[in-house]
Amino acid sequence: MDKFKSVIMNNIDNISNELIELSKKIHENPELCFKEFKAASWLQEIVKEHGFTVKAPCGNMETAFKASYKGKKGGPRIAFLAEYDALRGKGHACGHNVIAACAAGAAIGLSKVMDDIAGEIILLGTPAEEGGGGKIILLREGEFADIDYALMIHPAGRNLIGRGGLAATLLNVEFTGKAAHSSAPEDGINALQALLEVFKGIDSTRSVLQNGTKINGIITAGGEASNIITDYAAGEFTIRARSRDYLEEVVNKVIKLTKSAEIITGATPRTTKSMIYAERYPNMIMAERFKANMEYLEEMMNYPDPNMNLGSSDIGNVSMEVPTIHSYLKIVEPDISGHTKEFAAASVSPRAEEVVIKGAKGLAMTGYDILVDQALREKINQEFKDKVKGGKNEF
Ligand SMILES: [Zn+2]
Repeated sequence: MDKFKSVIMNNIDNISNELIELSKKIHENPELCFKEFKAASWLQEIVKEHGFTVKAPCGNMETAFKASYKGKKGGPRIAFLAEYDALRGKGHACGHNVIAACAAGAAIGLSKVMDDIAGEIILLGTPAEEGGGGKIILLREGEFADIDYALMIHPAGRNLIGRGGLAATLLNVEFTGKAAHSSAPEDGINALQALLEVFKGIDSTRSVLQNGTKINGIITAGGEASNIITDYAAGEFTIRARSRDYLEEVVNKVIKLTKSAEIITGATPRTTKSMIYAERYPNMIMAERFKANMEYLEEMMNYPDPNMNLGSSDIGNVSMEVPTIHSYLKIVEPDISGHTKEFAAASVSPRAEEVVIKGAKGLAMTGYDILVDQALREKINQEFKDKVKGGKNEF
């Protein structure tokens, strides 16, 4: 093994207790999106102790931060991304405590060889993955402009590289009608009926939507009493598609449906769009390198089943701007999904602790490979250009 890689691994072993403690502490103190004050400050503390310079807050978010450790002049800038938000009422049921500790461990481990290598190591604290789109805000605020490669892991039911993700967004739909007593309904305009027309319209449209498109809606306001014609109704729709571009088309179709519901019922629609989580382009050259490094640590990595269902994350937007990996490491059995209490319990299990350390080592070694191997960087960059800029997503 490369002598620098041994230094990296030894340094991660030296801080393994601290990393596991950090993961546990974040797990025991779940904080919701944009409110992750404790987790963000603990992460900053640990990297400061190891000589990183910290910019906080960052990207116009109080709980985002950017910690940097510079090596010799020039060279690529490698960012390890830490997520640390929890879920309402469910604690760390997505295991973001493991992600945070892994990223911190990778950044610290790799920093220990930077006196001899050109480049920069960044630990980027990215809040609010669960619905807040923290990484999208960081992108918008220019915080990825000084980053060349982005690496992270996510705990899961399987060890996987190269899993894609769907573009996703929320659309809120409201209708305003006119209340009337149900004994004299002709005086009313039924807002709920208008909203139901949108649901029906979506079902009619479904058969001609691109493969992979998913629309699920709920009614958030549907009237107060059944003897009154509803004057205000509201619904929320989660829409997913294989690409951001197509997602926008689908959103516009749903908005058109609100206009046809207006024609049918007379109720006035109002729609509110949310930020778009883009589809994900895992960089396979980087992912293969991560796989090789994990396999050196006796952790076998797999490829996704082509029929696998895909989720959505703000890492997708990052993957469109810089070469990115978001690989999965197993902490539960494959039949246990994220956002469950079983997954929350598994996020502090002995296996999760092992994943914190192995994941940190795998990420750090992959970062190291990118730093020192120009031919590898060229391949990564070429794939990024072909796939992302050429719009060829292979899932
Ligand atoms: Zn997650």
